[in-house]
Amino acid sequence: MLELSNPSLLRSQLFINGEWVDADSGATMAVLDPATKERLIDIPNAGAGETRRAIEAADQAFNSWKNVTAKERSAVLKRWFQLIMDNQEDLARLMTAEQGKPLGESRGEVGYGAAFVEWFAEEGRRVYGDTIAANNPNQRIVTLKQPVGVVAAITPWNFPIAMITRKVAPALAAGCTIVLKPATETPLCALALSWLGEQAGIPPGVFSVVAGNKAREIGGEMTSSPIVRKLTFTGSTEIGKVLMEQCAGTVKKTSMELGGNAPFIVFDDADLDEAVTGLIASKFRNAGQTCVCANRILVQESVYEAFADKFITAVSALKVGNGAEEGTTIGPLINDAAFEKVSAIVRQATSNGAKVLIGGQGSNSETGNFYEPTVLSDVDDSMDVYREEIFGPVAPLFKFKTEEEAIRIGNDTPYGLSAYFYARDIGRIWRVSEGLDYGIVGINEGIISTEVAPFGGVKESGIGREGSKYGIDDYLEIKYLCMGGV
Ligand code: ADP
Repeated sequence: MLELSNPSLLRSQLFINGEWVDADSGATMAVLDPATKERLIDIPNAGAGETRRAIEAADQAFNSWKNVTAKERSAVLKRWFQLIMDNQEDLARLMTAEQGKPLGESRGEVGYGAAFVEWFAEEGRRVYGDTIAANNPNQRIVTLKQPVGVVAAITPWNFPIAMITRKVAPALAAGCTIVLKPATETPLCALALSWLGEQAGIPPGVFSVVAGNKAREIGGEMTSSPIVRKLTFTGSTEIGKVLMEQCAGTVKKTSMELGGNAPFIVFDDADLDEAVTGLIASKFRNAGQTCVCANRILVQESVYEAFADKFITAVSALKVGNGAEEGTTIGPLINDAAFEKVSAIVRQATSNGAKVLIGGQGSNSETGNFYEPTVLSDVDDSMDVYREEIFGPVAPLFKFKTEEEAIRIGNDTPYGLSAYFYARDIGRIWRVSEGLDYGIVGINEGIISTEVAPFGGVKESGIGREGSKYGIDDYLEIKYLCMGGV
C-alpha cells in the first residue's frame, strides 16, 4: 500500500462543485501501479451525469470567479503553487506509483507542473487591452480581454501533473472555470491537485475533476455541452481529431496538443558527446513516452559510426526497473497496450531488415511492462519506426548525406511538434532552424520544456500554445468596444 506523509493526498472520490463524491451509479474503477500491476486504490467511475453536474457548477461559479480581481485570483494560485511544492515528495511518490516514471523524474515533474501555477499567477495580472485610433473623430475604440467562460480539459497519463497545471492555471488566472477529465490511468495526481487547490481557496465549482474510464461518455458530454466554450486537450492526434469534430457542433474554441514524430539530427560539425547526452535525455525520459521524445535519429554519414558507438555505450548504462527503486532510469510502459505497440513496431522493423544494436527485448511479465532501451540501425522510411510516434524506449538511427536531405527527411511527416539538431556552424544553425516545420526546435539541447516558453505544434501536432506569455491568450476573448457620440 502506498504510504504518504500526508495521507489526505490519496483521494478516493471525485471532486465536483467543491464536494468529494462517489459516482451516481456507485461504480468504481481500479487504479494500477504499472510497475507491479498491483491495485493502488479504487476510485469512482464517473460518466455523463457527473460531468454534466460539474459543467453546470462551473457555469454557476463562472459568474463570480470572472469578477474576482486578477490580484485575488493570483493570490489563490500562489497559495496553490506553494502547497504543491510543500507536498512535492508525496506527489512524486503518487506519480511514480500510478504512472511508473522514476522517482527523480516525478520530483522534477512536480516542480515543473507547479511552475505553471506560479507563472500564470503572475501572468494573470498582466492581461491588457488596447486603445485604437478610430477613423471617425466622434468615436473611441478600445479592446477588452475577457475570460472565454467554462473550459473542459482532457489530459493524458504521461505527465499526470504538468499537463493539468499548464491548462488549469492559465484558465483560472484568466477568470475561466474548468472541468477536468484526467487520463484513466492517472487520476490520483489530478485528484490530489484538486484537493490542494481546495486548501488554497479555489472556490467550489471553479475547478472540478471527473475521473473514470468512460472517456468517450465524459468527452461526449463535454464536447456537446453548449455551456462549455472551450476544450483544451493533450493526447493523440487520432483522438484530437475526433474531439475537434465533436466541438464543431457548438463551435467551441479548441487547444490541441497532439502527437509528434521528432527528428533528432546530428550534423558532422556537432559535439558528439553533447549530442549523445541530449539524445539520451530526449529519447529515454519517461521511458520514451513523451510527445517531444526524439523519434527519428538522423546522423550525418561521416560521423554515423562514431556517434552510434558513443550512443550505445551511453544506452548500456541505463537501468530498467521499478521507478520507485533507487537507480532506475527507465520505468515500465504504462500498460499492456503500450507494451504491445512498442514490441510490434520493433518486430515490424527487424522483420524488414533492421538490426538491433542493443536491447530489442521486453519482459511483459506479471510484474509489469518493461521494455529494454533499444537502438536500431539499417532502418528506412517504409518502416513504422519512421512514420509512427514510437512512445517507448526505442531509438532508430538513420543516415543522411547533406543538410538539405536532413531538413527534407525531418519534415517528411504530418506531425510538427518538436525537432532537435546538433551543429556548431552558425549559418547552418539558422538555415536548419528556419527550415524545420515544427513548433519547437531544440538546438544543441535535448530538453526544451519550461513554463516560460511557448509549447505547441504545427501541422497535425496541434493548435495553440501552452506556457509563456502566450499561454493565457487561449483562455481569453478579445472584445472590441466602439463608443460613438463622443
Ligand atoms: P494516449 O495514447 O496518450 O492515451 P489518448 O488520446 O488516447 O492518448 O488519450 C488522451 C486522453 O484522452 C485521455 O484522458 C483519454 O482518456 C482521453 N480519451 C480517449 N479517447 C477519448 C474520447 N473518445 N473522447 C474523449 N476523451 C478521450
